[in-house]
Amino acid sequence: MKDLMARGQRGVLRELARTRSILLFDFDGTLAPIVRVPGLARMRPSTRALLHEAALLYPCAVVTGRALGDLQTRVAGLPLWAMLGNHGAEDGERRRGQRAALRAVRAWRRSLHERLASIDGVWIEDKRFSLTVHFRGASRARRSMEKVLRAAQSLSGARLVEGHYGINVLPIDAPHKGTAVRALSRRARSESTLYVGDDCSDELVFASREGPDLVTVRVGHSRSSRATFYLRDQREIDGLLSALIALRRAEPAPEAIARLV
Ligand SMILES: [Mg+2]
Repeated sequence: MKDLMARGQRGVLRELARTRSILLFDFDGTLAPIVRVPGLARMRPSTRALLHEAALLYPCAVVTGRALGDLQTRVAGLPLWAMLGNHGAEDGERRRGQRAALRAVRAWRRSLHERLASIDGVWIEDKRFSLTVHFRGASRARRSMEKVLRAAQSLSGARLVEGHYGINVLPIDAPHKGTAVRALSRRARSESTLYVGDDCSDELVFASREGPDLVTVRVGHSRSSRATFYLRDQREIDGLLSALIALRRAEPAPEAIARLV
């Protein structure tokens, strides 16, 4: 992994500024610091202001594991190009197979509820297109996590993805962040795509490596990550946005990309 903000990598950012590019971000741990209570996660005012400025210069999108409605309240007022919830499965439009996915998620919720309701501190967040089983508040976190994992692994047709706030359970054939990012790049016909994320669900993007135009960035260095670049910590997102804003201002604007939202 290479330090994206190192002097020697300036060319990578300059290329994003110079070409017809899109900037895609995860929310928790990327745009917003991780907090103990997921409902309280929000961007710092500085990040919000910079993302606003960046979104006027580049098509910017947020791809999150949160439900779309939840994300929308956290990024309200920003001129974003696209917003995707539920790991990319929820974009506000209907698609084939969606009803079956919603039915499966409902059945999983009932099954998990039966098996996990008695464990103190474990709760199931129903995001309709996916579930998150939270266990960070459990008094015996490790044992609770094992029980949650066993229960989740017994669900048929489910993809399990570890997250900051618990285990995400999504339909195996539903879009995930990797497929969602590819679809956004295709839709924009972008020459280059930046994706910044910080956890296991983002590895599905980092691993996709569809072409040389995908610049993958992990928040925090990790030996096991498939991302090409890293930011040292979440605070560095402000420095990245500032650099991209300054570089694009210094370049002639590339051909515009139509807004999706
Ligand atoms: Mg995240």
